[in-house]
Amino acid sequence: MSDTEPQTSHQVALVFDLNKCMGCQSCSVACKTLWTGDKGEEHQWWCTTNTMPGRGTPRDWEQMGGGYRDGELQLGREPTLEEFGGGWQFNKEEVFFGGKGQSIHLTPTTAEGTPPTWGPNWDEDQGAGEFPNAYFFYMPRICNHCTHPACVEACPSGAMYKRPEDGIVLRDEERCQGSRNCMRACPYKKIYFNHERGVAQHCNLCFPRLEQGVAPACARNCPGRLIFVGMLDDEQGPIHRLVNKWKVALPLHPEFGTAPNVFYVPPLSPYRLREDGSIDTETMRIPPDYLESLFGPAVHEALATLVRERERVREGERSELLDTLIVYRWKSMFGPFTEEPATVSAAREGAE
Ligand code: SF4
Repeated sequence: MSDTEPQTSHQVALVFDLNKCMGCQSCSVACKTLWTGDKGEEHQWWCTTNTMPGRGTPRDWEQMGGGYRDGELQLGREPTLEEFGGGWQFNKEEVFFGGKGQSIHLTPTTAEGTPPTWGPNWDEDQGAGEFPNAYFFYMPRICNHCTHPACVEACPSGAMYKRPEDGIVLRDEERCQGSRNCMRACPYKKIYFNHERGVAQHCNLCFPRLEQGVAPACARNCPGRLIFVGMLDDEQGPIHRLVNKWKVALPLHPEFGTAPNVFYVPPLSPYRLREDGSIDTETMRIPPDYLESLFGPAVHEALATLVRERERVREGERSELLDTLIVYRWKSMFGPFTEEPATVSAAREGAE
């Protein structure tokens, strides 16, 4: 990793509890509505929620490379617009205002006017496995605001930076020269290129909201109460409890080497059914090997901890871990960011 990498005094972090995600896309839409409504941003979904297993957004991003190997920066491949799903157009005029709403349905087309062949959630709910042991779960993804951000090291103009006070990875669009090296270096493929303006763009963790004590739009709008926000070093906060104390929240693809600050509580699943219909209480339906391929070997202990604590509660005991994950008080998820969004005077203005 780079010797000049900035040291952060504090780090904002998020935990997504995948056991509670219902794939409603509220987080994705809240982000889209707030941040990417301008020209050149049609294809940009800084927060995407995909069905897992699946090809994801951009399509097959896990095979595109980037990150670090043996401490060396890797430039992977830049995703194409088509792999991101493009920005679809709809025949809204015709359906809503042309008097044909009873006979013509909304139909998407690409910017080239052709039917789309991929989209941000193209393989929704397909999953894997055979009935009756088919399985899937949902996984929201944003920029991980990594401790070792490959995007920052790869940027030739100094436009990408990690700010020291809270570890958010931001970009200075005035300095961006459009090299797109950040897109190649990010192993999570969470950077988009704005072809209208010639600059890279990505999730900024709603920093104008955070600066005023308001949780990011994705977290605040999640009806499932699964997105925790806080400072990693706040020992009283839920992030520290889930990541460091109970060790049930894990980074996605730790082998990519960027040390993400977005963590996931892995999904538990029902036991598999045998061919005769009996229950195999030794085997969970989501293969642990698959979860290990996402979250690394620590996932097995994390799952065991979740099961153990669940059993304790079933036997009438209290569990600090389950109390944290259940979230009895909504705002307990947001650490120091519990202010109302209405207090943010102008989320968009002065953002970049
Ligand atoms: Fe950079 Fe990608 Fe990490 Fe975000 S997820 S900080 S864009 S390397």
